[in-house]
Amino acid sequence: MTRAPVKAAVLREAGRPLTVEELFLDAPMAGEVRIRTHAVGLCHSDLHYVQGKLPINLPAVLGHEVVGEVDQVGPDCTSLEVGDRVVITITPSCGICALCQSGRATLCRNAATFRERLRPKLLDAQENEVNLLGAIGAFAEAFVVHERAAVQLDSDMDAAEACLLGCCVATGFGAVVHGAAVGALDTVAVIGCGGVGIATIQAARIAGARKVIAIDLFEEKLDRAESFGATHRIRSGPDVLADLVRIAPGGVDKSFEAVGSPTTAALAFNILAPAGVATVLGLQPPGNTIEIGADMLIEGDRKITGAYMGSNQLARDMPSFIDHQARGTLRLQDMVTSRWAFEDINQGFDAMQDPTSVRAVVEF
Ligand SMILES: [Zn+2]
Ligand SMILES: [Zn+2]
Repeated sequence: MTRAPVKAAVLREAGRPLTVEELFLDAPMAGEVRIRTHAVGLCHSDLHYVQGKLPINLPAVLGHEVVGEVDQVGPDCTSLEVGDRVVITITPSCGICALCQSGRATLCRNAATFRERLRPKLLDAQENEVNLLGAIGAFAEAFVVHERAAVQLDSDMDAAEACLLGCCVATGFGAVVHGAAVGALDTVAVIGCGGVGIATIQAARIAGARKVIAIDLFEEKLDRAESFGATHRIRSGPDVLADLVRIAPGGVDKSFEAVGSPTTAALAFNILAPAGVATVLGLQPPGNTIEIGADMLIEGDRKITGAYMGSNQLARDMPSFIDHQARGTLRLQDMVTSRWAFEDINQGFDAMQDPTSVRAVVEF
């Protein structure tokens, strides 16, 4: 067996800190590459698995918002070479199925074939298989993914900033630019001002929305939202609808939910103007249901849609991200609110609970 030792942060029990252990990583198989991790963001989805709010088979290595460098290439890998800098997506795509061809790369019909493999990627010291979130497992010094999950990053931008492109920025941008097609005529509301929410606010600003209304429980998050381009702010509470109507009479044209709860998803719908579109981004556990008014839906031609990972098109969007980052219109630097050494990853998760945090990033 060609396995290499790697240090990884393992979730062995939900609700407990991750344990940094030596695991054994398989060499890349056909179509796969091994990536040396440079920086990995701590995403709220990761936190929800750590807390047990979302289900996952344990033990597991989480981590999916990541940038790194290809250090080994498997057989039949055609798109990448050793030394390539890449951003990883949790939704590998073939580029040729009907859904990929219609611009829905995150729903690729062949995604599973890029995640499945004959041997486990990771074993622990007792030779037990270790599960990987999204077949990535980036809370580790190195990991193996299919080349279809890696997008080349033709930029020397800071690694801690670049990793954000793979999850929160791809999601916020995808939802705004591709899904809701926000433009200059639109009023926009964003519910939840964490990493995805801030990326959504920036995308709405870049897309030229005439009003961008940030909604959150915390004043600190609303301060930040304004600094990233929100034109108005609303503190969540019983008066949220009344506050919103004062800013956008009749409701907003496009709303985005970046929290992950049935009540905020319903709120995204309830603040829509006639013909408005609500996009629900926050992941929720199986079994949750969203209650919306049938008359609001039918008589106002309103729409509510999910957008897994913002229905992003990472490979297509990457040059745009790089240009906007270089122009200063996509402000990644300010989204990285704390940086942690790998050994201190649990402190990074603690830091995420601070309402002034946008993204805690682990650097290698
Ligand atoms: Zn994420
Ligand atoms: Zn496809």
